[in-house]
Formats: sequence, C-alpha cells, structure tokens
Amino acid sequence: MRGIKLHWQILIALLLAVAAGAVLGEKALLFQPLGTLFLKALNMIIVPLVGTSIVTGIAKIGGGEGIGRLGLKTFFYYITTSLFAILVGLALVNLIGPGRGADLGLKAPTEELARAMQEHYSGSPWRTILGVLTRMIPTNPFRAMVDGEMLQIILFCLLFGYFITQVPDPYRSRMAGLFEAGFQIMMKLTHFIILFAPIGVFGLVAKMVATSGVGVFRDLGLYAITVLAGLLVHACVTLPGLLFLAGRGVSPRKHLRAMASALLTAFSTSSSSATLPLTMDSVEENAGVSNRISSFVLPLGATINMDGTALYECVAAMFIAQAYGVHLSFGQQFVVVIMALLVSIGAAGIPMAGLVMMVVILKAVGLPLEGVGLILAVDRILDMCRTTVNVWSDSCGAVIIARSEGEPLTRLMPQGTRRRGGA
Ligand code: ASP
Repeated sequence: MRGIKLHWQILIALLLAVAAGAVLGEKALLFQPLGTLFLKALNMIIVPLVGTSIVTGIAKIGGGEGIGRLGLKTFFYYITTSLFAILVGLALVNLIGPGRGADLGLKAPTEELARAMQEHYSGSPWRTILGVLTRMIPTNPFRAMVDGEMLQIILFCLLFGYFITQVPDPYRSRMAGLFEAGFQIMMKLTHFIILFAPIGVFGLVAKMVATSGVGVFRDLGLYAITVLAGLLVHACVTLPGLLFLAGRGVSPRKHLRAMASALLTAFSTSSSSATLPLTMDSVEENAGVSNRISSFVLPLGATINMDGTALYECVAAMFIAQAYGVHLSFGQQFVVVIMALLVSIGAAGIPMAGLVMMVVILKAVGLPLEGVGLILAVDRILDMCRTTVNVWSDSCGAVIIARSEGEPLTRLMPQGTRRRGGA
C-alpha cells in the first residue's frame, strides 16, 4: 500500500476489517493481537511525547501574560463548544423522544462495569467533581508518569515549562534545549509508529465486529440514532461553522483532510488519549499549527474537552428518564446539562469512560443506576463515534486558537497550498 496516503490506507483497513469480522465471525478474533500491539505502541509514547511537548511549548510561550491569554481562550473554547453540543443533544432527545413508551427489558450492568461505576460514585456529584480537581495535583510527579495519570502529568509539565522561562541563562536555554531535543525525537518515533496504524486499525475493528456483531442496533435504534444525529450536527455544522467564523476563513474541508488519519484512529480505538500522538502529528504537520499552540491545546483537550461525550451523556440520561417514564422538570434538565458538562471534563480519554461516568448524572437527578444497563448494548459503536467528535473538536480548537494568535495556516485556507504527502 506504499504510494497510498495514510488516511486512505486506514480507511481501506477499516473496511476490510468490517468485512473480515462479518464473514469470519469469532474467527476474526485471530487478528486481535495486531490491534493490541498498535495500542500498546501508542500508549508507550504518550507520556514522553506529551511531557516533552508541553514543556517545550510552554517554554516557548514565555512569560505569564502569554500563557494566561492562551489558557483563557482555550478554556473558553472547551466550555462553549461542549455546551453547544449538549444543547443540540437536549433539543434532539426532547424532539425525538427515543425512550418514550419504549419497552426495553432491563439488562443489568456487567459486574466489571458495576464495580467501575461504584468507584466513580463517592457520595454527591459535587464531591466527585471536587475529587477530580484534587486528583490533579500529584503527590509525586514520577509516580504520575508511571501510572499514566494524564491530568497530573499535564499540570506538572505546565508548571515545569513555565518556570523554565523564569530562570536566567544558561539554565533556561539548556533546559529548554534538552526538552526540545527530546520532543523532536519523540515526534520521529511517533511518525514511525503511525506507519503501522492501518494494521492496528484492522485488528481493532475486526475484533469489534466479531464480538458485538453488526446487529446491536435493533433494540436501541432510535436512541442510537438520536445520539448519532446530535454528533453529526455538532461535527458537520457547529464545529465547521466555528472553524470558518472564529478561525477567520479556515476551510473546514481542508482541515478535515488534514485530520483524516487521526479521526479514523479515534474511531477505531475509542480513545482520545491513545489517539493523541496522531492528533498532534496531524495538527502540526498537516494543518501547520505551531507546536507552541498544539502542545498546550491538544493534550489538555484530549483529557478535558469532550464534546461528543458531553452530548452523549445528556441524551443518554434523558433517554433513561424517558424509558422509566420519569418526567424531568426544566430545573432537572438544567442539572443534566451542567452535569453532562462536568462529567465530560472529568471523564478519561479511554474507551467506555463516558458510560462509567453516567452514574454521576443518574445520581444527580435521582434516576436508577440500573439505567446504564439499558444503553449498554450500543455503547461500543456510540463510543467510537463520540470519540471521533472529541478529537475533531480538539483539533478545531487548536486551529481556531492558532488563528487568533496570528498564525497564517495557509494550508487550511481556501486558496492554500497542499503539504507534501499528507493532507
Ligand atoms: N472514549 C471517549 C474518549 O476517549 C470517552 C468516552 O467514553 O466518552 O474520548
């Protein structure tokens, strides 16, 4: 497949995997190790890549004013886009009413899921959110790195990068140079691993099709369609609109092409964190965003900016209420909106994180936790789609913020030139 561009290779692999899963059934599990190897390789590079990238990026931003401005813009983007997504979901679920009058035999959550839910629910929803904030500060940054605690690593690296700018030369230039060198090496390694994406995607998707089959949609069709419609509106209308308007003329189509490999990988892995190396690579190499911006916006985004998850949380909670015949007042729906936002911030960028966090919302509005059992069957496919939207939103954020900081991004302009190979 050498001469073919990477995103086409991934797409072909994805289609072949669906065919293999459908034709071979359980036998397609034979390909699972290919997916596992790829995921392990991605996970291997996340901590050093994110660490060196954040420190290098922040050290380049320089003093307090620059980082304050960038931070404000970034958080404003995260919050507003997630709220847009939730409101689209809320409107659709009220309009379509997928749970109204639905006769769905309750399926109990699996034991593993029940345990994970228990872990996430420690009393009141606010305590849960407070818990997320407290957990951001590592007692030992090296332990955080060993355990892959992304928020803790990000916080420590942000501080470390910032204080590099506060020491005089030669310390500053030595330290900044050391991290820059590490970052360049990690990018090279990332490029290398990305070459194997088509093989990894093939393994992951073949396994998915073999285990859950394609027929899971039957029972929960309308609910799944509501979530998918919401995700589609957000991904194809809201975010492109923002790209064009707030990004001052950026072509959404060109940006989509630039991000194709990362989006297909997000779809196949259901993990924003695992996709992060590809997201960073595509945003920098294909879209042309500087490392100074991408290293700040993307790692943070992969952990806390989840528009797709936020939308899904809202629709799923409302669906469960409808299915139980519970009418949620305007006030309670408002609580659902706020909780969906907070939960999407707190959810980790890993598969099924959103499903596990549902328990926080259900508790907040007093719905039975067994409701999670209702939506279990279609969660995998919805997870793939919402993760793709999460990554798409992160990448749009990086572009919009880069434009607001005066970066030309000529490759993404309607009249812009193509880059070598990728987009
Ligand atoms: N899998 C999603 C992600 O990694 C999180 C979720 O479960 O909603 O972005």
